[in-house]
Amino acid sequence: MITMQRHEAKTRPSATQKPSRLERTIMARLARLPFSSHPALKVNLRQEAYANYTFGARSGPSVDFDGLCHELAHAAQFDPEEFDERCTPAGRFHLPVAQILIGEQHVEGPVTAGCTLRECEVFAIQYHLLKYTGRRIDFDRYTKEVVQLCSWLPDWWMLGGTEGRKDEIPRHLGRYVKAWTAQRAFDRITLWLDRTQARFARQN
Ligand SMILES: [Zn+2]
Repeated sequence: MITMQRHEAKTRPSATQKPSRLERTIMARLARLPFSSHPALKVNLRQEAYANYTFGARSGPSVDFDGLCHELAHAAQFDPEEFDERCTPAGRFHLPVAQILIGEQHVEGPVTAGCTLRECEVFAIQYHLLKYTGRRIDFDRYTKEVVQLCSWLPDWWMLGGTEGRKDEIPRHLGRYVKAWTAQRAFDRITLWLDRTQARFARQN
């Protein structure tokens, strides 16, 4: 079951409110993905990121299918064997950034480009999900957007600094696009949802 929860509960009814055209479009696209009827799949289009075992579709001010695919791609990127470690008790992704010791304090301080590489892989999986649902993608443009988005991450500079990342991020993105298929992403996401369901069963 796919549930569309809403944030505007304060302003008024949720259950009776009709989904907007954009929401209907996003849900119709989601329905093209083979795992869309999985009983553990929960989607909230107004939510950012993944929280409370629910996939969001909002990034900043924009709500779109790309944002939803991005969160689903994160679930695919994790090794299903690591579900317990990667999915917190609050139903969020656990995405650690390496800590370094400064004096006696541990602070976030990336020593590898792990975070940026993970996002490159996630964007590659997202690319396959979008393409599967019929999206036509100009890969060069998509790559430029990924380079731009990765500049928000804490460790992109580990990939050759300002100049180096312009070559390195596209190279890694291309490598991951080749390594992944839509089917592999579906299998991984289905496993994530299976594990989610098993956790719910244990809790009830
Ligand atoms: Zn991400």
